[in-house]
Amino acid sequence: MSKIQREPALYIDGRWVSGGGGDLEVENPATEEVTGLITQASAADVDAAVAAARAAFPAWAATPVAVRAAMLRRVHDVIAERADVFADTVHREQGSPPKVARGLHVDTPLAVIDKTIDALESFAFRSEIGNSLILRQPVGVVAAITPWNLPLHQVVVKVIPALAAGTTVVLKPAGLTPLTAFELARAFEAAGLPAGVFNLVTGSGRVVGDQLTRHPDVDQVSFTGSTKVGRQIAATAAGTLKRITLELGGKSASVVLADTDDELLAKAVKITVGNCYLNGGQTCTALARLIVPVEQVEQVERLAAEAAAKYAPGSRLGPLISAEQRKEVESFLDPSTGGTSTVTVLGGVDRVGGIELPERGHYVTPTVFSRVDPESQLATEEIFGPVLSILTAGSDDEAVALANNSIYGLSGAVWGADRDAAIAVAERLQTGQVDVNGGAFNPGAPFGGYKQSGVGREMGGYGIADVLEIKAVQR
Ligand code: NAP
Ligand code: MG
Repeated sequence: MSKIQREPALYIDGRWVSGGGGDLEVENPATEEVTGLITQASAADVDAAVAAARAAFPAWAATPVAVRAAMLRRVHDVIAERADVFADTVHREQGSPPKVARGLHVDTPLAVIDKTIDALESFAFRSEIGNSLILRQPVGVVAAITPWNLPLHQVVVKVIPALAAGTTVVLKPAGLTPLTAFELARAFEAAGLPAGVFNLVTGSGRVVGDQLTRHPDVDQVSFTGSTKVGRQIAATAAGTLKRITLELGGKSASVVLADTDDELLAKAVKITVGNCYLNGGQTCTALARLIVPVEQVEQVERLAAEAAAKYAPGSRLGPLISAEQRKEVESFLDPSTGGTSTVTVLGGVDRVGGIELPERGHYVTPTVFSRVDPESQLATEEIFGPVLSILTAGSDDEAVALANNSIYGLSGAVWGADRDAAIAVAERLQTGQVDVNGGAFNPGAPFGGYKQSGVGREMGGYGIADVLEIKAVQR
């Protein structure tokens, strides 16, 4: 039995105050042990947090950019100094293997903070159009509601640009992974952030998240999570015509063009599998559909089986977040969810390839299906687990049509020997991000969804702009 981390307080107005909403246990999904205990906010606690953010807003908004940038630099440095604590905390509540926890869950958010500070230092808060002075001013109080899949990153991409822009924040992290948010609150405290500028409340989305979404003194809700809850938040926020930022689900496609040679094809399959399985398959940007020329499908199936078999559950492949989520993903392991032509290349209900699962922990077998019907449940629904679907296309145009055949549009990839032609295909994909021939993740580039993948953009200068109002002053 590992040590239980107790968090008996909420962080409101620069103080640790006991919450009135009862206790909540936090489980490590890799071991199924309780590793944390937090207190939840009552409705009065939520009101106090919003009031603190409101009171702190004028002074923070008026704080010079250079001072805000220096403050965020200190926050960055405190997190970097405590990187091991953050990685361990992510591991104990989200289950990611320690090495993954450090790279994906701590180093990436640190890079995001760094790029946000760069963007802040060069941001055009004032400009001119003719006789008008154009001012970009912070909206006020931002409520951030975040999911469990990336407990630090999903918080950082909202909170840091908001603080950079001069807004004040009330954060409600996911009930399954709140402990990392407490570490972040401690980092803000250690960096000397003024009281009330950042506030942490915990509790269920249905209660605390809903209260924040309705709250008349919250100016913007920034949400990441399921498309279902995103729709509810948009509807509720309409009651006060609040501004919303929504980062929702995806069913992103990796498109292999007909001119792709064997070497690039091998790279495409390997990177697509790795991307689909990242974080146990629990990323909104997962390349969950691999669209390949029909002539190459057998070669792709061999390559995918080989690449996917390297993701041993418990070492390279992390667990799903909960027993509930595991059940949800297991409902997609039957090839019939992909239509009658679907074949299991690896994993699935039949456990093709015989990969062992650890005895404890919410693991599922890494799975690859092929010849999946593009209209099937498997090809259209977000799974949020390590399940890759291979689809075939008769031409590059058909591949583009298949890729765009989705209610979602968050991420994507294109592979082709002619790089310019591949970029031209990227232009045709209805999606917020596209990586061409393995182009690397850019922590300074805008991130967000087309279609039902979301509203608004996060990261870099776009993340700052997302929480700014625009004023024109005529002279
Ligand atoms: P979720 O239900 O959308 O929850 C995300 C956040 O919203 C959590 O903090 C949650 O609180 C809160 N919330 C829930 N209902 C709310 C409401 N009515 N009003 C305000 N806030 C509310 O996501 P989930 O249950 O964690 O995961 C379910 C599915 O969402 C996954 O299978 C996956 O498809 C998708 N997902 C997407 C992303 C992404 O990055 N796009 C990330 C995670 C999950 P509590 O959970 O604490 O109650
Ligand atoms: Mg939920």
